[in-house]
Amino acid sequence: MLELEELDRRKYLRQITLPGFGEEAQRKLKNASALVARAGGLGGPVALYLAAAGIGRLVILHGGNLTWTNLNRQILQAQDWVGKPRADKIRESILRLNHDIDLTVVPEDPDDRNLDTWAPTVDILCDCPPTYEERFAMNRASLRHRKPMVEAGMSDMEGILTVFVPGQTACLECLCPEVPPEWSGSKFPVLGAVSGALGCLAAIEAIKVLTGFGEPLTGELLTMDTLRHTYRKLKLPRDPHCRACSGIG
Ligand SMILES: [Zn+2]
Repeated sequence: MLELEELDRRKYLRQITLPGFGEEAQRKLKNASALVARAGGLGGPVALYLAAAGIGRLVILHGGNLTWTNLNRQILQAQDWVGKPRADKIRESILRLNHDIDLTVVPEDPDDRNLDTWAPTVDILCDCPPTYEERFAMNRASLRHRKPMVEAGMSDMEGILTVFVPGQTACLECLCPEVPPEWSGSKFPVLGAVSGALGCLAAIEAIKVLTGFGEPLTGELLTMDTLRHTYRKLKLPRDPHCRACSGIG
């Protein structure tokens, strides 16, 4: 167990003083690790705020080169980086904010193979890809390796957020067994502030699970419509016939 150092107490003073957080939660965070799948408009803020909060270790999966159309939401990137590997700028941006964390940025999008390498090495998964294929791969990895997973999804001005715990709560396929017929593919419209807001909420959930602080959204689904600012919290039961998780107790 790594102990807090004097610099940690200074850097994280303003959250250590949160009622119910304290040095104990900060120490847990320092000894914790998370995998963030895709660090774009949604996962970028998740990774950045986990780093800002002093998580001990981060693994990020994100492939491809930066395009002009990424820039309205991918806040870890930079305009002069178009055409270059997004993973390199993600690494630079996060370490610029906090170089005391152990950071691995894998220049690949998540799939069954790389998730089998990396998921067993972390305490929690954060599911932020733009495609259902990658999200189902994350769900399988969460169940296979018994890792809790923060599920954050958005499209247009709306978003959803929940925390899956294998064997205890619903999984992604309980919530969404098939790709929805109305799904238009990964080129859905997005306002960067909406993906950013949801990414911040997802980081809060990850910190809660990792530290025991507060009450995570386990067994509950938060839905948000930022156009009207309508927020609802619904019960999210397990599907006893779920193809993915029904055999997991
Ligand atoms: Zn399920």
